[in-house]
Amino acid sequence: MTKGKLILITGPSGVGKGTIVRELLNRHSQLYLSISATTRSPRPGEVNGKDYYFVNPCQFEAMIASQTLLEWAEYTGNYYGTPRQQVETKIEQGRWVILEIEVQGARKIKKNFSNTLSLFILPPSFAELEHRLRNRGNNSDTDIHKRLEQAKLELQAAVEFDYQIINDDLDAALQRIETVIFSECSQ
Ligand code: 5GP
Repeated sequence: MTKGKLILITGPSGVGKGTIVRELLNRHSQLYLSISATTRSPRPGEVNGKDYYFVNPCQFEAMIASQTLLEWAEYTGNYYGTPRQQVETKIEQGRWVILEIEVQGARKIKKNFSNTLSLFILPPSFAELEHRLRNRGNNSDTDIHKRLEQAKLELQAAVEFDYQIINDDLDAALQRIETVIFSECSQ
């Protein structure tokens, strides 16, 4: 994969990765977001093929077996993975492809694609992360608990990535991310 760029955006659930990515896509038409496959159930308003490809565990395991995923991970009891072909096609077309994924998958991408630009999004504090996760209102208490436990491990991985961006204020975080992406990607 040589023509375009892979931009990896990782960090714990609830940190605001999705909001950041949506805003980046609104602002910059050269960016393309890879749509992941998952076995988790759709949340109200989520659309198959737009937010995720929602599949069952058998379908996901078939994707693993046929190597159609660039990376995949099990996260809080569900599978999540990046379909390989859409990413390879867009990179071949010279697009800058964003992967918005959790840390285990992000590590695999970093290992396998050395020229990936990687950004880890941090919350201003753990208490604020918990507050954001609870305020989203779309996860059960059990799921929030699992996500927070996972977040403790994930936050320790921040230093493994090229840039650490604190999402304290959305506009300020976006500005820092745009500076990183557009100075690094134009090289
Ligand atoms: P959610 O259930 O909140 O949509 O996503 C849970 C976590 O899975 C988030 O941290 C999200 O970034 C991550 N995720 C989404 N798609 C993928 C993917 O394709 N691969 C991996 N490894 N993680 C993903």
